[in-house]
Amino acid sequence: MSRPRIVVVGAGFAGLSALRRLERRIPKGAAEIVLIAPNDYMLYQPLLPQVASGLLTPQSIAVSLHRLLHRTRMVPGAAIGVDVRSRTVVVRKISGETAYEPYDRLVLAPGSNTRVFDIPGLVEHGRGNKNLAEAVYLRDHVLAQLELANASDDPAERDERCTFLVVGGGYTGVETAASLKLLCEEACKRYPLLRDHIQWHLIDIAPNLMPELGENLGRSAMELLRQRGVKVTLEVSVKEATEDKVTLTDDRILPCRSLIWTAGTSPSPLMGGLGLETNKGKLVVGPDLSVPDAPEIFAIGDSAAIPDLSKDEDDALCPPTAQHAERQGPAAADNVIASLLDRPKTDYRHKDLGLLVDLSGRDAVARPLGKEFTGMPALALTRAYHLYSLQSGPGRVRVATNWAIRALLGGEVSRLGFLNKTIDTLVDTDQIDQYLDTEQAHEKVLVAGGAHDRA
Ligand SMILES: Cc1cc2nc3c(=O)[nH]c(=O)nc-3n(C[C@H](O)[C@H](O)[C@H](O)COP(=O)(O)OP(=O)(O)OC[C@H]3O[C@@H](n4cnc5c(N)ncnc54)[C@H](O)[C@@H]3O)c2cc1C
Repeated sequence: MSRPRIVVVGAGFAGLSALRRLERRIPKGAAEIVLIAPNDYMLYQPLLPQVASGLLTPQSIAVSLHRLLHRTRMVPGAAIGVDVRSRTVVVRKISGETAYEPYDRLVLAPGSNTRVFDIPGLVEHGRGNKNLAEAVYLRDHVLAQLELANASDDPAERDERCTFLVVGGGYTGVETAASLKLLCEEACKRYPLLRDHIQWHLIDIAPNLMPELGENLGRSAMELLRQRGVKVTLEVSVKEATEDKVTLTDDRILPCRSLIWTAGTSPSPLMGGLGLETNKGKLVVGPDLSVPDAPEIFAIGDSAAIPDLSKDEDDALCPPTAQHAERQGPAAADNVIASLLDRPKTDYRHKDLGLLVDLSGRDAVARPLGKEFTGMPALALTRAYHLYSLQSGPGRVRVATNWAIRALLGGEVSRLGFLNKTIDTLVDTDQIDQYLDTEQAHEKVLVAGGAHDRA
């Protein structure tokens, strides 16, 4: 066999950890390693709420791939389809051109998008917090509302601009509401008249916040949010959104120009087009992370349905967390190598280590290894964990320095000026209409004549 080509799609927690293991284990020149990814950084998503609140600069959580990968050829673009028959990935490069990347082994790790529902007005008016652009825009949007409210003498407009609604009681929603509420408090030092008008709401359709934290800590998180002035309502969702109001499923109408949507994720649409088995949009793989009907394809991270062997139930799947994704990467890389060498593959198994939730300021709740912490001990654990997990020395220094600057000098509440509509609401961000199914990908590959037809 000539030098095998291993193509990895996505460089998040799962893809990057797979690539690092491949580079470490495969001798120089023994295989070609290719990465298809739209950005040349790995985004440390758990700290996005701290970018949205301005505690961290965007660069500090964008871990440069150039520092971490040394032998991988990077193709800047998105995989928009996979021709499973000819083993070729169709790529839309960031220039808009189409490219074709043949593979002998394919590792799919494209992550997930914000999950939206068929709620009138949601994608036009909702804002997400799932990528760097959304986090930066969210901060500008919140600060712009306060500036405009302060400049208005219309009481109705002031109420609309001072009311903020976060939908989703998972860690993203809780951390986003907690940290942006603090940003508003800081901004109110400039706008004292707005102080009594500002309202933050957090709603969720479930009966508990963050059920994975357990009953006690879920309740503590809710108490901490309420003490901070966030109104938490459970078992409620959004019925309709317009530019200046949101109607809830309990028929309350909130005058509101800020609908922040963090109600879960849905797997990358790439997975649904492969013509292979999916489970709620996630590509189904076996415990060895390969696809049963196409063993040359591996899938990991948020967009893969991976059996959770640490649980007793037969149909348990690994949850979509960074903790799992960054362990699945090396496991997939080892199995890619084993499959190329005709050796037996190993099953992926990881017992969840718990969850850490940073509520900004001095508050956090944490449940590592089943032990419960709140307050400063939880905050220290949470921050130490993030520094440990950041993967790059310069990234760690940037994040720690940002935290120190905030502690010593306080925060900045100036907008950056992103008020144009380039990427703003959910309708602008996920570009889900660009994906091809495997037949369309096959046709494109045949027309381009770029395929190695191994069918
Ligand atoms: C605000 C927030 C807070 C979170 N907090 C925590 C936490 O505290 N603890 C925890 O364990 N988890 C947390 N998570 C979840 C965690 O970040 C995800 O589970 C994890 O990022 C999943 O890793 P992944 O590699 O599957 O996907 P990602 O990290 O999302 O990476 C996917 C990569 O693929 C790229 N990509 C997407 N589509 C394509 C395509 N078509 N072609 C090529 N590349 C593509 C993307 O640009 C990205 O680089 C949080 C998530 C968010 C949004």
